[in-house]
Amino acid sequence: MSVLDLARPDIRALAPYSSARMEAQGGTVLLNANESSRPPNIPGGEGLNRYPDPQPPALVASLAELYGCDPDRVLATRGSDEAIDLLVRAFCRAGQDAVLVSPPTFGMYAVCARIQGAAVIESPLDASGALDADTLLSAVSPAVKLVFVCTPNNPTGNLVGVDVLDRLARELAGRAVLVVDEAYAEFSGTASAVSLIDAYDYVAVLRTLSKAWSLAGARVGALVARPDVIGLLRRIIPPYPLPSPCVDAALGALSYEGRRVQRHHLNEILAERARMFAELARVPGVREVLPSHANFLAVRFDDAPGTYRRLLAAGVVVRDITKYPGLGDALRITVGTGNENDRVLAVLGAGA
Ligand SMILES: *Cc1c(COP(=O)(O)O)cnc(C)c1O
Repeated sequence: MSVLDLARPDIRALAPYSSARMEAQGGTVLLNANESSRPPNIPGGEGLNRYPDPQPPALVASLAELYGCDPDRVLATRGSDEAIDLLVRAFCRAGQDAVLVSPPTFGMYAVCARIQGAAVIESPLDASGALDADTLLSAVSPAVKLVFVCTPNNPTGNLVGVDVLDRLARELAGRAVLVVDEAYAEFSGTASAVSLIDAYDYVAVLRTLSKAWSLAGARVGALVARPDVIGLLRRIIPPYPLPSPCVDAALGALSYEGRRVQRHHLNEILAERARMFAELARVPGVREVLPSHANFLAVRFDDAPGTYRRLLAAGVVVRDITKYPGLGDALRITVGTGNENDRVLAVLGAGA
């Protein structure tokens, strides 16, 4: 039994598109891909006339080092959103298979499943916002091929303990792939589920440079999994997923100097998160600030829609999360700079 036995048979049998860049490497006179031999006459245009490497080795090596795994366990993707889509398309047969999600959670898992024609089975978090392993496992039917667990969870900010993830990985082995979305892991300071991949084949971890690495505009994410899963997804990923300016941006962010600045920004956000957590709890009309391990705070208000409008009128845009189950009175506020956070507090009448 291999994790690939869970995948769609037609994808396993598919002959992937073979791009010019994959078929022949090396050489200096490149006349095999119908590219222009001339670079475009724009700033930074050098090299842009060429198709990028499908999986740039320097980026893959850098991501592998960052996430503490071998490079053959990394697939660089166009944001982790693309990795979610690839997993659903590779593992779920339309009209037959399903994914399992634990609401309130990130919406893309269900959206990708519906686009693929896969069912979405919901196993809600408990009343305290925690993920209960027994509840989740009892909802895993034979149709479920992927179980998405987001930690820290968006939009609540809570963590799923490594002990819970370990148990899920053990009990799902042979039945479904446990997909751990760690988009906000850097803000939590806890151990990554990447280490679970050593012990369990049926685990995949999603990471991204969009949040803690300030690169949402570059669309660079990664899927970490066993090489057979990486190989499977490489069959269906578009031939050139990563634009070369985005690869360069990622390599810059992950350089020695980039990491130094990133640590500084991360510490700033953690300090501001602690400050906002304390200050928001004292604001009139705030019912509760949910403890968060991410770069945002979910806040319950006596009047969430009115608070949303008041902030918007002052030019401050936050996320209305009142449509999520159990969060009918909540807004999600990203932790900004000190000045931005002061604006939020001023509009809400903190200290008044
Ligand atoms: C932001 C976010 C992502 C998407 O990240 P990209 O890498 O920008 O696609 C994935 N998962 C969660 C939970 C997120 O909040």
